Amino acid sequence: MMPAEMYFREKIPVAILGATGAVGQRFVQLLAQHPWFEIKALAASERSAGKKYGDAVRWMLPTPIPPELAALEVQPCEPTLPCSLVFSGLDARVAGDVEKAFAQAGYMVVSNCHNHRMDPTVPLLIPEVNPSHLSLLSHQTTSGKIVTDPNCSVMGLAMALKPLYDLFGLEAVHVVTLQAISGAGYPGVPSLDILDNVIPYISGEEHKIETEPLKILGSPSEPASFKISAHCTRVPVTDGHTACLSFQLKKPATADQIIEAWKTFRSEPQTLRLPMAPEYPLHYFHEEAMPQPRLHRQLGQGMSVAIGRLRPCPLLGHKCVLLSHNTIRGAAGAAILNAELLVQKGLVRW
Ligand code: NAP
Repeated sequence: MMPAEMYFREKIPVAILGATGAVGQRFVQLLAQHPWFEIKALAASERSAGKKYGDAVRWMLPTPIPPELAALEVQPCEPTLPCSLVFSGLDARVAGDVEKAFAQAGYMVVSNCHNHRMDPTVPLLIPEVNPSHLSLLSHQTTSGKIVTDPNCSVMGLAMALKPLYDLFGLEAVHVVTLQAISGAGYPGVPSLDILDNVIPYISGEEHKIETEPLKILGSPSEPASFKISAHCTRVPVTDGHTACLSFQLKKPATADQIIEAWKTFRSEPQTLRLPMAPEYPLHYFHEEAMPQPRLHRQLGQGMSVAIGRLRPCPLLGHKCVLLSHNTIRGAAGAAILNAELLVQKGLVRW
């Protein structure tokens, strides 16, 4: 729903870098119907540039490509695009340099990629969790700025931990992820590797899960200091990352208090009624075999985190299961919510 105070005479022009990829397609799908933003350019590699978007992209979403966007010519990722706000779903091998070039040219870059996430001047932003980290933007020396969202598995984890961290403090977290195939982009993991199988390794992922939540849950100048241990696995699920976690709190809490903390969690995006913000960021299921990716990944239009199975853990005190949509809450939807907060705070010029 549109916040009462945010009406635009004209929509804000935006572009998508990496528009042909798994995340890029989600951007196209979500932005095509966005009340504030209008896609003015779609950019990708030299392989796609010059082609019509409909011919360049291998579209994998169940909704059709909006015809006016299918007809757009794909641009190279050069900072001459007709807008001041760009969303990046670029391959990590090129995202670092390309995003920096756009920031130097004056663009606001809202990125999904890991390259700039741990830069101390870059907000690693989840609007429900750490909106105050936008203050870091003043330390960036370029005329444009870069804002990132976290790794797709970190997203659900950091959101579920936030109210517990605030109310009870955290000592330690142990997490095992079961990550969907779409998290590896397209064509991603070969079918002969993933069918009838679980792959107990995702390059670089465990380090991200063990570090990014500390930056997110800390203050803008100092990371949080609890310990995280992660095992990451790839499983034959199309969309939706599951995580099984155990956690140790600093102060004692009952199961009812923890569930209440999750159920009542609301934050700035809900107060501001930002268009991508789900009414309930965290949803707790009391049923014994929930959450499940096929059933619950679309909760809150893919923007809510589903939690269930809170129970005692003999090692760390508490354990539970959580699930979030990796290309919506874990990528494109999260970046759009970041951009909405930037607009709402007056940090985007157009
Ligand atoms: P993907 O499907 O492989 O898409 C990569 C995109 O980057 C494509 O549009 C591709 O364009 C473009 N690209 C590749 N090389 C390029 C170059 N040299 N110059 C310009 N553009 C180039 O990957 P993805 O899964 O969408 O992931 C995109 C980014 O988001 C990655 O950094 C990833 O780590 C991150 N991320 C992904 C997820 C997820 O769930 N998939 C979640 C969170 C974050 P062409 O089609 O023209 O090659």
